[in-house]
Amino acid sequence: LKENNARRLWHPMSHPAESLANPPDIIVEAEGVEIIDVDGHRMVDAVGGLWNVNLGYSCQPVKDAIAAQLNRLPYYSIFRGTTNDNVIELAEMLAGFFAPDGLSRAFYTSGGSDGVEVALRLARQYHKIRGEAGKVKFLSLKKGYHGTHTLGASVNGNANFRTQYEPLMPGCFHTPAPYTYRNPFNESDPARLAQLCLAAIEDEIRFQDPSTIAAFIMEPVLGAGGVIPPHESFMPGVRALCSKYGILLIADEVITAFGRTGSWSGSRHWGVQPDLLVSAKAITNGYFPFGVVMVADAVAEVFEGDATGKGAIGSGYTYSGHPVGAAAAIACLKETERQQVHLNAGARGDQLFSGLQALMARHQVIGDVRGGHGLMCALELVSDRASKAPIDKKTIGKVHRATYEAGVMIRVSGNNIILSPPLVVTKADVARILSALDAGFASL
Ligand code: PMP
Repeated sequence: LKENNARRLWHPMSHPAESLANPPDIIVEAEGVEIIDVDGHRMVDAVGGLWNVNLGYSCQPVKDAIAAQLNRLPYYSIFRGTTNDNVIELAEMLAGFFAPDGLSRAFYTSGGSDGVEVALRLARQYHKIRGEAGKVKFLSLKKGYHGTHTLGASVNGNANFRTQYEPLMPGCFHTPAPYTYRNPFNESDPARLAQLCLAAIEDEIRFQDPSTIAAFIMEPVLGAGGVIPPHESFMPGVRALCSKYGILLIADEVITAFGRTGSWSGSRHWGVQPDLLVSAKAITNGYFPFGVVMVADAVAEVFEGDATGKGAIGSGYTYSGHPVGAAAAIACLKETERQQVHLNAGARGDQLFSGLQALMARHQVIGDVRGGHGLMCALELVSDRASKAPIDKKTIGKVHRATYEAGVMIRVSGNNIILSPPLVVTKADVARILSALDAGFASL
């Protein structure tokens, strides 16, 4: 297996030679919040799959729903003229779930990148229907991550995800993220930094001319960029600027929806109602590929009230509204609400965050600890706290390996360690994650 993996398989976000030099771990089984590799090594999955397995790997009602649906109707398209019972039931449930966020219509996709693409396209179309055809540009945050399709890549804040594919979509502009540890303003106070970042957004809006901007897309808590929670004034401030200048606010909640931040959605965490919300990942907890774009009433009415044909939606995927995915999503949503997983995410997130702060006091290599909003945390590693020089790949790789040997899977992204365990972790699981990390750092 290991040899064929290296010879035959190109992995996402990796150099093809990487598998030869450093073969990936082959995961063959999972149970509860644990994963088991091909050599029988069992670990707590502190990554939660890829920020998505909120309910853990043994959620029987989800497995049963998938099996039953496979036997009843494994697939049928929901393109013009046909639909299925599951997608209707799910849309009704999602409208209820996202009602406090002001969102009531569901457009299905097969994942997060598709959802971002659809949301950006809908934003342009919304303005076109309203006769504002010049509103085509997109603003987003540096450090933001919005998937790998062309529009999503164009709004990605990390240049590493853009440069090899340029020229990408013109008209996409990126403003500073509220990242206290490193920012162009040298400002470490979160409230003051939020104000500076908001001022930079307003400057960019004026510079570009608001009549040319379709939407601002942002993650309520930046995830893949290294878990960057903003000050509480930031997202409401972005909402206010979008409303002031007639720009749609797209919340990319591929990671944050369904409880990860300790609230049911990331937008609700900050008391904001977006115009469009993209979700995927935990909507099916990893049990089936699926995604959704939720649409606010006021936006939906523009499409639905259009009599000229401009409101016809030109996006759609063979697997939009897949009946098995929808069955999985219905079961996941029921379990998510029944278990009130957001409450555990909040409590265990606090335990994890304070434990990580204690690790920082013991290990010089930890330059910054971020978290405090549910089960999304990151450690930023530096070779020297004063200069904040990022730690080298080999050293962080050593921490990764030693933590693995100590029984916990973590995610390394650049010089960050990212932690996003299932939302059903226990106090003992979080203690295991912390002690394995302690062993990982002690190995240096
Ligand atoms: N947006 C965000 C915020 C994400 O974190 C991700 C995936 N990590 C995506 C979009 C893309 O989702 P997918 O991988 O399902 O295409």
